[in-house]
Amino acid sequence: MASVSLESVSKVFAGDVMAVNNVSLRVNDGEFLVLLGPSGCGKSTTLRMIAGLEEVTDGRIRIGDRIVNDVAPKDRDIAMVFQNYALYPHMSVYKNMAFGLELRYGGNSLHRTWKRLTSPTEAANLAAKRRGIRDAVRQTAQALKIEHLLDRMPRQLSGGERQRVALGRAIVRQPAVFLFDEPLSNLDAKLRLETRRELNELHQRLSTTMVYVTHDQTEAMTLGERIVVMNHGEIQQIGSPMEVYDRPETRFVAGFIGSPPMNFISGSLASEGDELSFVAGGVKVVFGEMQEQILAILGKKQAVELGVRPEDIGVEKSETDGDANCGRVSLVEPLGDCKLLHVAIGSRREINKLVCKVEPRANMAKGDCVRLRFYVNVHLFDAARGHNLTLD
Ligand code: ATP
Repeated sequence: MASVSLESVSKVFAGDVMAVNNVSLRVNDGEFLVLLGPSGCGKSTTLRMIAGLEEVTDGRIRIGDRIVNDVAPKDRDIAMVFQNYALYPHMSVYKNMAFGLELRYGGNSLHRTWKRLTSPTEAANLAAKRRGIRDAVRQTAQALKIEHLLDRMPRQLSGGERQRVALGRAIVRQPAVFLFDEPLSNLDAKLRLETRRELNELHQRLSTTMVYVTHDQTEAMTLGERIVVMNHGEIQQIGSPMEVYDRPETRFVAGFIGSPPMNFISGSLASEGDELSFVAGGVKVVFGEMQEQILAILGKKQAVELGVRPEDIGVEKSETDGDANCGRVSLVEPLGDCKLLHVAIGSRREINKLVCKVEPRANMAKGDCVRLRFYVNVHLFDAARGHNLTLD
């Protein structure tokens, strides 16, 4: 096992494409770290640099204590699992899984030497190595429930089985670090869920350092001990799943994590007597306890964006849609375990559309007038730079 450190790492591709910009992070020994971000944010390039499949333009990468910038991929003690399995099509499942170990023990020469049988001691050594490989493959296959597939060829497997074989091939080598590049994206929803659970169990069992790339925030939240959120080649935030969810440092993180996403409303701050509030077309949020904190960081009437998650808005029926925070339900989406209400607030000149999560049997229908309550968990973002102004 080993830690992985990136120290001010950048990658510029031909044509001045800055794919990764000055990224520094440390994956602790035994940690499951997820790199999360939209397509093109540089997460795969970061992973490929750790694997040695992409050269580093600037900065240093360490695996354990060793700087690996100039170390060949095969000598980095890593195993990588890709989205598209990349199994050897002409080899059985057993051979696919055993191949890496055979290479480590001498590859083809193992076979040739075996045939020559130079001395009884050598023959005994080779037999022990072969037994070791066989046992390792069988144990791993058993753990992944693919033991019955060992004699099949990759073309005779389903997508889920192939991905398990690809995982098995990586596990059997017992690398210091596992690197996963969207390994579940080709699986259907049910298999993705199952394999995600297996990956979680696998990490608990092996406690090996794992770095996992995905654009799927649910995968990131459920698998990662910490999540690195990336955008435009840069790190936006590193934190535990609940840290990035509850305390997003930027508007980007706030909007990227959470489904349905956080609601954003553009508006300004207004003070009336001692009371400071956020106002925007039909919406008024009084800050109460947060007031002092907000006043300390803001000049009044600064342009800000309010961010509030769908589950942090209370909804009750109302007689009218004209008062502050009152509006009309424009759409109801029943999801089984909850309902999503789309509520339009404000006048035609300035209308705000918010999504609210309510209990599954809430008696509300399209066209109903509702009053919204904003609980304490609201965020204010600097409209120009997107920084969260409400974090300590
Ligand atoms: P995805 O989820 O779509 O794979 P990603 O976040 O993994 O996206 P990268 O594959 O790391 O993104 O790509 C980051 C940026 O670098 C993108 O703008 C991409 O177009 C660019 N890029 C990647 N590989 C190359 C290459 N070989 N040559 C030039 N530009 C590249």
